Amino acid sequence: MKRRRLLRSATLSALALGVGRPARAADLDVVIVGAGVAGLAAARSLMAAHKSVLVVEARERIGGRAVTDSTTFGFPFDQGAQWIEAGKTNPAMAILREANARPIPDRQEQTLYISGKELPQNEYARFEKIAVDASRKIAAALKKPPPLAGLGVTPGKEPDVIVGRLLAPQDPLERLAYALVGPLEAGVENSELSARDFTRQPDTEPQYAVAEGLGAVIARWGAKVPVKLATRVVRIDSTGTLVQVVTTNGELGARAVIVTVPTGVLAAGPFSFAPPLKAAKREAIAQLPMALYNKIALSFAGKAIDAPGGRGVSGLTRKGQAFDAIVRPHNRDAAVVFVGGAQARELEEQGGSAAVSFALSAMAEIYGDELRGAVAHSFATRWGRDPFARGSWSMAIPGRVEARLVLAQPHHDRVFFAGEATDPVWATRVGGAYASGLRAAGEALALLGGKR
Ligand SMILES: Cc1cc2nc3c(=O)[nH]c(=O)nc-3n(C[C@H](O)[C@H](O)[C@H](O)COP(=O)(O)OP(=O)(O)OC[C@H]3O[C@@H](n4cnc5c(N)ncnc54)[C@H](O)[C@@H]3O)c2cc1C
Repeated sequence: MKRRRLLRSATLSALALGVGRPARAADLDVVIVGAGVAGLAAARSLMAAHKSVLVVEARERIGGRAVTDSTTFGFPFDQGAQWIEAGKTNPAMAILREANARPIPDRQEQTLYISGKELPQNEYARFEKIAVDASRKIAAALKKPPPLAGLGVTPGKEPDVIVGRLLAPQDPLERLAYALVGPLEAGVENSELSARDFTRQPDTEPQYAVAEGLGAVIARWGAKVPVKLATRVVRIDSTGTLVQVVTTNGELGARAVIVTVPTGVLAAGPFSFAPPLKAAKREAIAQLPMALYNKIALSFAGKAIDAPGGRGVSGLTRKGQAFDAIVRPHNRDAAVVFVGGAQARELEEQGGSAAVSFALSAMAEIYGDELRGAVAHSFATRWGRDPFARGSWSMAIPGRVEARLVLAQPHHDRVFFAGEATDPVWATRVGGAYASGLRAAGEALALLGGKR
């Protein structure tokens, strides 16, 4: 019964769309696991090639780690992905084109604070120099063959360096600058950060945002894809004629399957394969653990923050905790504070309102204690506790960047892998998810044989 209901809904969506062939039981070309950017990109590509597809999604919405809260704060709050960086080459720009969304160049002016006080002007130049020197040190260390164990270089096919071994802060300004490399950019401490994984992606400029929120654009872009929501996949069995996809809502059969779930989900399960994944694939999953980066949104009743709209603020609190923030986003009386790495994990562990208290204190140190009484709404993301993400994005452990290529390999010929973690250049970002979805769709098409 369950199975028939599941397949019937897929059939109806596909027919309503006028795409692909009507799907009969056990007659889907491709089942895609996960309706994030990777799954949606794969589905759109296969639908364009007239294949019958169904995306199975555990959540009650599409978009995965890209989601916009458009109602709570009076401005679109992207809880996950927000910017498209390196817009000249980023594959994710195609999503904006396909969704008819106008990219808005987004270059924030950054102000720096230590213990609630803005840095004097001459310190800005020193900060800039520290940041530039840090990038140079990382690039130079990667070029140095052969790897030097004393520098934190770990063996692997390509030489790699642990960033923390290169950047040892000597004063608060260096601590802030280096926190903006590991925790507040990559979501891991510098002591866990692979220089090769960190430098894989092109520079960030130009960076784009969209007025309605990136999550909202992605939801609109993926709206016509047939998706079975609130249905968790627990097992993929490719030992029979068709690949069986076992879900919490029945079973599906397909000629090929594309798996796009985050590495955190693959590692933690419940998610199994028959035949089991090869050891190399299991190792690759373990070598691409989830980093953590969270956002805390605060809105205020009245003008609590005296700053120009959309200003970037980075700093160290009086307790020496690093944070990044955007104040007065969309010219609203609000702030979005970003935390990453160990600090983000600690706040998640403390639970309750710890993250909101942290963000409020960081803002109060700069803008005054009165804003504490003016909070209208607040929300802190907890991506590490999200059972369908288990973190924010994958970061390779030092020396193991090739794991991304291993993860991207098909399993047992008919099970393909996509998702940000599998992209060799744009991993961690929407661009990687998008490119990987197209790549996996191409692999599935090669198996199924062109248009039909
Ligand atoms: C706080 C934060 C900020 C970010 N900022 C940016 C940014 O500014 N720019 C940028 O480019 N990137 C950013 N990212 C990263 C970006 O969001 C991701 O790289 C991208 O969205 C990943 O897409 P995906 O399709 O690979 O995975 P996901 O979006 O995670 O999609 C996988 C889907 O699989 C589903 N799923 C999981 N388990 C199961 C199961 N068992 N059965 C069925 N379905 C399942 C999930 O619910 C999810 O919908 C950010 C991420 C976070 C968390």
